[in-house]
Amino acid sequence: MSAGPGPGPRSTGAPAVDRRSALEVEHIDAAYGPYRALFDVSFAVPAGGVVALLGSNGAGKSTVARVVSGLLPSAKGRIRIDGTDMTGQPAFKIARAGVAHVPEGRGIFANLTVEENLTLVFRQRVGRKMVAPSLDAAYEAFPVLGDRRKQRGGTLSGGQQRLLSLAKVLVVPPRLLVADELSLGLAPVVVDAVYDGLRRVNATGTALLVVEQQVDRALELASHAVVLEHGSVAFEGPSDQAMAAVEKVLAARGERTGLLEGPAPAAPTAPVDPVTKARRERRWAIGRGRRPRTDGEEQP
Ligand code: ATP
Repeated sequence: MSAGPGPGPRSTGAPAVDRRSALEVEHIDAAYGPYRALFDVSFAVPAGGVVALLGSNGAGKSTVARVVSGLLPSAKGRIRIDGTDMTGQPAFKIARAGVAHVPEGRGIFANLTVEENLTLVFRQRVGRKMVAPSLDAAYEAFPVLGDRRKQRGGTLSGGQQRLLSLAKVLVVPPRLLVADELSLGLAPVVVDAVYDGLRRVNATGTALLVVEQQVDRALELASHAVVLEHGSVAFEGPSDQAMAAVEKVLAARGERTGLLEGPAPAAPTAPVDPVTKARRERRWAIGRGRRPRTDGEEQP
């Protein structure tokens, strides 16, 4: 796809500068080489608040997360952290400004034990002397990590690995945590534990940008939501209005959820290639936060 205006609805405009915002994203465009992934994206995350960033596969959620944490430069627009313009700053400076990014996937060292993973981060963040009390605090918050302190990160279950990622963040609560699809591929009960972890992080005063495909999960936690479609903001507003916006986007795409009225769309007559089939199966998971797990993963 070439660069150009996105097919989806445009954002309604940048929010007024709000000094109480942990994050302000204003009119961001971003691209991967010639492929333009974000179009004029604007939204804000209030200090200590929770905003859900929703959208289907490829809508641009992870790209927003990467731009916010400085992993991908924006082609246009501004990023403010706590009112300070951090546009174009490298990831380490954005991290220093108080942004922690738990990326899609695990974000831990597979060959190090749980304790080594935590120690590495805590030493850097709070200094050698504070490592022991920080480990105690992490194990108190997530007892399963204490039980498995000698286990290598790579052999933990997916849910335990996400908790390890969150434990690294808890010791020095950031101003803003960007949590990118932490529920991906997890059993519902494990997702519960991960979301409890997110609540715990939020209770320390950290603002959360929760990137999710499991709409219902994210909306339980968030007060506000941003719905992306084709790299543009299709909705920004209170969580209780977000589900209707999601339904509208899906209806416009000709997709159907259990919440939509009317007859089901006709079955396709042409054979569906495996890639398209896989994409359809990974459709936006509205109301499917309680999908049966498929990976045989152990629970935390
Ligand atoms: P998912 O839920 O599948 O992760 P997403 O909403 O997070 O989707 P992004 O990963 O942000 O979507 O991708 C937005 C668009 O940018 C997609 O069309 C994707 O194919 C494209 N894209 C993402 N990463 C790259 C990359 N490294 N190089 C080129 N294109 C990319």
